[in-house]
Amino acid sequence: MSTHTNNPSNVDPPSELLLDLHVKYIQNLDTKKGDLEYWLTEHLRVNGIYWGSTALHLMGHPDALDHDQIVEYMVKCQHDNGGFGGHIGHDPHILSTLSAIQVLITYDRLDAINVDKVVDYIVSLQNEDGSYSGDSWGETDTRFIFCAINCLSLLKRLDDKRLDLQRTIDYVVQCRNFDGGFGNCPGGESHAAQVYVCLGTLTILNALHHVDADQLGWWLSERQLKNGGLNGRPEKLEDVCYSWWVLSSLSMLKRRHWIDADKLTKFILSSQDSETGGIADRPDHVPDVFHTVFGIAGLSLMGYPGLTPVDPVYCMPRYVIQRIGLSEKH
Ligand SMILES: [Zn+2]
Repeated sequence: MSTHTNNPSNVDPPSELLLDLHVKYIQNLDTKKGDLEYWLTEHLRVNGIYWGSTALHLMGHPDALDHDQIVEYMVKCQHDNGGFGGHIGHDPHILSTLSAIQVLITYDRLDAINVDKVVDYIVSLQNEDGSYSGDSWGETDTRFIFCAINCLSLLKRLDDKRLDLQRTIDYVVQCRNFDGGFGNCPGGESHAAQVYVCLGTLTILNALHHVDADQLGWWLSERQLKNGGLNGRPEKLEDVCYSWWVLSSLSMLKRRHWIDADKLTKFILSSQDSETGGIADRPDHVPDVFHTVFGIAGLSLMGYPGLTPVDPVYCMPRYVIQRIGLSEKH
């Protein structure tokens, strides 16, 4: 499957946000059931709804998808043990559980599910060393720690007596490297996405003092390449999704101005597909909903005109985070 479109390279890349086209692109995702790609990504359906609905909210079109239909679908993805699968009948996982909770909170429909059971499920994934497994098979990763802590925070259940938050903080601190970045486990190579999840965890748990903001801010700002795009680690290609991992991390460190926002904005806008709508990982590639939401969230963080402000920790509209009373920690 080629990821390249047939865009003639002599056409100027878009220089403004093609908002209406992106709204249509997301609305049409569910009608592509005949496409192979739709079935290949079945395990990501719950995540896909989070990406799509978040992008729509940030673009000021919260009602572009049917709320009731989405809530009904999410309820069907919850298992008896409280966790959510990536699609109806799929095994529960912390990644899809967080997405489901984010969507239900955004639509203000937590009442539709059993929240106590979700908390039980997340607690069951906590390991002795303070880390969290992604599912009952036991694989651990700093991403799963962030999903667990993020979810419990959104549900206002971080005070659950079964949690050992200090151990979780200690574990995340162990994942910090000599360059200031964070990896997916102690000793794992620094990577911008892992930096985001570790900083997000420490921010939610009020433990950001464990981070050298200048050193890590410098490492993050070094992710910007000549064409304005950001990469995830040294020597790698730029990619629109890193606009989010890097910028949100710099926001948490209060050093967002350490990268060139004009150049990054241009890079994201040039990765839009001006025919179908949607944003790709880089110019002239096929768009997808994952890069669409993180491109738009990046633009929102940089204050792009007409976009709803996004929260840099939760990657949800800031007004939703305010509505549920989570204090601004960043
Ligand atoms: Zn990407």
